[in-house]
Amino acid sequence: MSIVVMKFGGTSVADSEMIRSAARRAVQARQRGHKVVAVVSAMGNTTDRLIDLAGQITRRPSRREMDQLLSTGEQVTIALMAMAIEDMGVPSVSFTAGQIRIITDDVHGQAKIRRINAHSIVRELDAGRIVIVAGFQGVTETGEVTTLGRGGSNLTLVAVAAAIDAKFCENYTDVDGVYTADPRLVPGARKIDRITYDEMMELSSQGASVLHNRAVGFAKKHNVPIHVRSSLHNRRGTMIVSETEEMERIVVNAVALKKHLAGISLKNVPDRPGMAATVFHALAAAKIVVDDIIQTETTPKLATISFTVDLSALPAVRKLCRKMCRQIKGVTAEFEKDLAKVSVVGLGMRVHTGVAERMFAALASGGINIRDITTSEIKISCIIKRAEGAKALRLVHDAFELGRKKKPAAKTTKKKKTAKKKKTKKKTAAKKK
Ligand code: ASP
Ligand code: MG
Repeated sequence: MSIVVMKFGGTSVADSEMIRSAARRAVQARQRGHKVVAVVSAMGNTTDRLIDLAGQITRRPSRREMDQLLSTGEQVTIALMAMAIEDMGVPSVSFTAGQIRIITDDVHGQAKIRRINAHSIVRELDAGRIVIVAGFQGVTETGEVTTLGRGGSNLTLVAVAAAIDAKFCENYTDVDGVYTADPRLVPGARKIDRITYDEMMELSSQGASVLHNRAVGFAKKHNVPIHVRSSLHNRRGTMIVSETEEMERIVVNAVALKKHLAGISLKNVPDRPGMAATVFHALAAAKIVVDDIIQTETTPKLATISFTVDLSALPAVRKLCRKMCRQIKGVTAEFEKDLAKVSVVGLGMRVHTGVAERMFAALASGGINIRDITTSEIKISCIIKRAEGAKALRLVHDAFELGRKKKPAAKTTKKKKTAKKKKTKKKTAAKKK
């Protein structure tokens, strides 16, 4: 008897009707002969409502009490889900994280899972019950309630699947799967059948919001493939899997757009050891997540350090940079708040050349100016003006023929990747921390 671990996100359990339909899915899987575990999120936008409610009480709720509050969302769903399944004549039992010891560290609001007591789940499965687990929550060794960060039910899903040795897990959500581009921005986007963990992580850190990056990283670590699929129908979605050689044949698998970026350029930074460390130490200490970093030598003794951050972080970054300008002689700061980033992602880039050229030509054809370029082994990103973001995404998507049914023809020649890297001029690009 194989084990199926499925997860229903908030939009898939938004009301009682949807909970019943999620329950039906779990029951059907059991009738097909599987042992079934279902991880569930809070109903609809419950978590947002709870956050809002806390905001009505105090401007500064403690993180501990926030977790006490937010964890209640999932607790409602597990009980209703178990009731719905029992109502269909199948035995079921629900568990909070405390009951099955989903042990985390004590970082409230962003806790990391350390281990799960698989015994209690397995015991219930063996007794013939469908097991329902509250997503998003955990407990510390001492029994304090924690939460895993927004979208954290996906982490619970993967962690539970890994703990009980499931062959793969299923993520039921409100989209059909992972697309070659956001279908709301690119109408011709196509659903991808299979994508690797690494590509998926790049895509989500470059703006695709399908799956939490941490969850995919966790899945990779434990090699638990994730099937992302719609809770509205039975069609196959997208399998997120470990890579196989054959997957390198696809040069570019998908494109993504990060819409709300701000750019900061620190100019006239003395070109000597320790300067970059000083700058980014200050940002890290303020818990600012830096996106791409580019340093260019401008004159033999001076450098420009440019980096991007989420637009929402700009006020804090501005303050910090102004302070740095006062502290380091000669340094000036410039800020841009109208940036976006378009990226192409594909494993095949490792062995095919000409990818960068094709991307840049697509942008040029639309008269789009590239402010900065950064690359990793499996992605190329261009920072552009926000106003041109959607257009850029469409142009690049077209250039790699991602919308077509057939696989994009590898017009490019097979050879080493260094040619691509040269295109990034003399800039040194570093991935975010
Ligand atoms: N309910 C939590 C949230 O909305 C966790 C989740 O849905 O995964 O972020
Ligand atoms: Mg949710």
